[in-house]
Amino acid sequence: MNIILLGPPGAGKGTQAARLVADRGMVQLSTGDMLRAAVKAGTPAGLQARAVMAAGALVSDAIVSALIGERLDAGVAGGAIFDGFPRNGEQVQILDLLLEERGQRLDHVIELEVDEAALIERVVGRYTCANCGAGYHDRFKLPAVTGVCDVCGATEFKRRPDDNAETVTTRMAVYRAETAPILPLYEARGLVTRLDGMADMAHVGAAIGQVLDGRG
Ligand code: AMP
Repeated sequence: MNIILLGPPGAGKGTQAARLVADRGMVQLSTGDMLRAAVKAGTPAGLQARAVMAAGALVSDAIVSALIGERLDAGVAGGAIFDGFPRNGEQVQILDLLLEERGQRLDHVIELEVDEAALIERVVGRYTCANCGAGYHDRFKLPAVTGVCDVCGATEFKRRPDDNAETVTTRMAVYRAETAPILPLYEARGLVTRLDGMADMAHVGAAIGQVLDGRG
């Protein structure tokens, strides 16, 4: 089972992918996470990607497809969740090819539909535990004890540098212009399910589960 989670920044793709990893043993392939790791490690790809990401634009297809290809080769036995990829028509073709070369196919494309105005607030307030990656939000999800991670007890947190209002606005515009147009390509193949991404996390998770189990 290989699926794509699609939606603008803050739609909940990462959150839902993490649930699928925990509940179903699937493997999350987040190009954003891979690129952030490359930037942190100072790899050649990371050095090229850094400024592009800070501006909220798209990193080159070549860099992203190399990262995804490597990850697929490392094995995705429980099924892959593509999170943040593909992001334009070119990447749709790249993914088709990468899967075909490995005798795999795509089973579902799930679009999380969201209200853009609410997204800015969602994205700008979000942060994660620097140790375990648990997600928090300034307004919607504070830790039970101020400054202490609920999950692991760590006291260090981090925010993504591109989660500021200006860059988020650019990232949404890029989504509308470059990523949303790939939906009709997948619709023509009968793969797309649209879900309400504004519903609470558990509802969205249950709806995704129904789609994957063929009850959607
Ligand atoms: P994300 O974590 O998915 O929000 O991605 C963060 C940033 O990484 C984006 O704003 C882009 O600059 C870059 N990025 C992530 N995935 C891709 C992709 N598939 N193609 C091009 N750039 C990407």
